[in-house]
Amino acid sequence: MTIAAKGYAAAAPKKALAPWSFERRDPQPHDVVIDILYAGICHSDIHQVRDEWAAGTFPMVPGHEIAGVVKAVGTAVTKYSVGDKVGVGVFVDSCRKCAPCKRGLEQYCCEGMTGTYNDTERDGKTPTQGGYSNIIVTNENYVLRLPENLPMDATAPLLCAGITLYSPLSHWKAGPGKKIGIVGLGGLGHMGVKIAHAMGAEVSVLSHSAKKEADAKAMGADHFYNTSEDGFFEKMANHFDLIINTVSATLDWNKYLGLVGLDGSLVNVGLPEETMPVSPFSLLTNRRSLSGSMIGGIAETQEMLDFCGKHNIVSDIELITPDQINEAYERVIKSDVRYRFVIDMQKI
Ligand code: NAP
Ligand code: ZN
Repeated sequence: MTIAAKGYAAAAPKKALAPWSFERRDPQPHDVVIDILYAGICHSDIHQVRDEWAAGTFPMVPGHEIAGVVKAVGTAVTKYSVGDKVGVGVFVDSCRKCAPCKRGLEQYCCEGMTGTYNDTERDGKTPTQGGYSNIIVTNENYVLRLPENLPMDATAPLLCAGITLYSPLSHWKAGPGKKIGIVGLGGLGHMGVKIAHAMGAEVSVLSHSAKKEADAKAMGADHFYNTSEDGFFEKMANHFDLIINTVSATLDWNKYLGLVGLDGSLVNVGLPEETMPVSPFSLLTNRRSLSGSMIGGIAETQEMLDFCGKHNIVSDIELITPDQINEAYERVIKSDVRYRFVIDMQKI
């Protein structure tokens, strides 16, 4: 029997989100049924509701930063029990056979990961629906265990914002002696500051105004730079070992590449609609690399959650009720979020 769910959905592209009732799949032997307590609002939710990437599937219930409690488990489930505090992130399945899946890099599955929402299950027809809802049914292999010592509302954003920064920081070896620049202090960026600081790196925030300096320092940033200030790009030329760009809007890559020192990298995680040109001269100077990175695999996401548990790292959040989602979207677009909106899904 399917499970009745209540959510907030966009009925069509660019429409405001509104209450919507729908069905979750009949739980299978390896499925975990999760009562959703909290869901973070990621800028990717807004890009997809507004059809800024590709044509989406509507009605769309966004949400891929999910924290909840296990309500029931299928007969074959071994990893979780009723009452466990768990999370679901950006994907809920993958082919499980290809080389990336076998390496625990399910986000780079050769057949494509199954997105938590705005996608279809691997049966090729059932639409997936996300975390702005009260309940979800997920295969146990794609469920994460939340640290016991962290508050669940502020932990939810780790499931996307946290892992999206942890993975490149870890891959490009952020740590003592490394100068790291985080571009954009929003949901992703503020997690990057906290995680890079806990990894022991020297962290700078590169923000497009002066407004967030005190917050950045309180999060562990060693330095704060307002990129709109005259002469910033000349003054800081060749300075950084690693820059991670989290900005949701277009940037001039060439200016930011100019900040990268010998053998350093600019890693992009922001996903604006437009293509951005790169000059070959920006890359060959200092033997620089320009790369991208997408969330993280299940094992690495668990590693990140455990790391955050150990270092007491959570997101700075504003907790809202579901009827405030549309207003929250407007504030995210204006860079007026301190630093992640999280929806109290039990108030639906
Ligand atoms: P967010 O909370 O809105 O943060 C984005 C930040 O970018 C803002 O706080 C602002 O920081 C800066 N910014 C915004 N507009 C700008 C502009 N016009 N010029 C310069 N800076 C601007 O968004 P988010 O949830 O962190 O997501 C950021 C991006 O990452 C989105 O495009 C999202 O889709 C993408 N994303 C990617 C992945 C992945 O796996 N790669 C995962 C999740 C999200 P300042 O005020 O400090 O400048
Ligand atoms: Zn996200």
